[in-house]
Amino acid sequence: MKVKFIGTGTMGSTTRANTSFLVDDKILFDCGMGTVKQLERLKLQVKNIKCLVISHYHADHFFDIPNLLMGKKIRKECSEKLYIILPVGGRRKVIDMLEFSFGDGDINAFEDIEEKYNVEFIELQKDSKYIFGNYEITAIELKHGNCIPTYGYLLKNSNTILGYTGDTGITDNFFRMCELADYMLVDTTWLNPINNDNHISFEDLKEYAKKYTSCKFFAVHRGDYEVLDSGDVNIPNDADEINI
Ligand SMILES: [Zn+2]
Ligand SMILES: [Zn+2]
Repeated sequence: MKVKFIGTGTMGSTTRANTSFLVDDKILFDCGMGTVKQLERLKLQVKNIKCLVISHYHADHFFDIPNLLMGKKIRKECSEKLYIILPVGGRRKVIDMLEFSFGDGDINAFEDIEEKYNVEFIELQKDSKYIFGNYEITAIELKHGNCIPTYGYLLKNSNTILGYTGDTGITDNFFRMCELADYMLVDTTWLNPINNDNHISFEDLKEYAKKYTSCKFFAVHRGDYEVLDSGDVNIPNDADEINI
């Protein structure tokens, strides 16, 4: 799998875009404020995205969906279906966002979203799977303050498993993901632990990397802190690409 880092920052980062990454040019994970502009800056074509996967309903992870759909519609790029995989309740949230931002007073303007934009919503229950072509996508319930549901995902292709935490605090299912995955992209909002219910810190991740040696770790959703010793953790920047 080819993984392109679109953004590696937190909402408050002044140096990096909101965390998002693209797998094999067609599966986009998270689409927060500015993600579509960042894709365009990196010369990546939105029309090639066939599947969008959303971790949780915070603005820095899903607020750019109206922009993505509008752009596709205006450029007449809706001939192929876009699958949107997201936690329960997501279809309603996307329609509400569109009505609020582009409804022009018509509260029913986007009720026919499936036909209008050629999209299909797949609202996953925790621990359920969805097969998209050669990929198996599994939703894992994580813990992120009061944001419920919050999912991480395992993406399996051939014998490789890529894990993405979205935003999470320290919870048993995070460790389960570390055991199962070959590669993990992990929320490291803070350098040092501040609140373990909301986010994981870079220093904590360094310790987990020592323990789960069969998994390679990448720190994403990073604040603007400086890392002097990264240990066994990789620190990708926006626009970096890895092959796994
Ligand atoms: Zn969040
Ligand atoms: Zn976030």
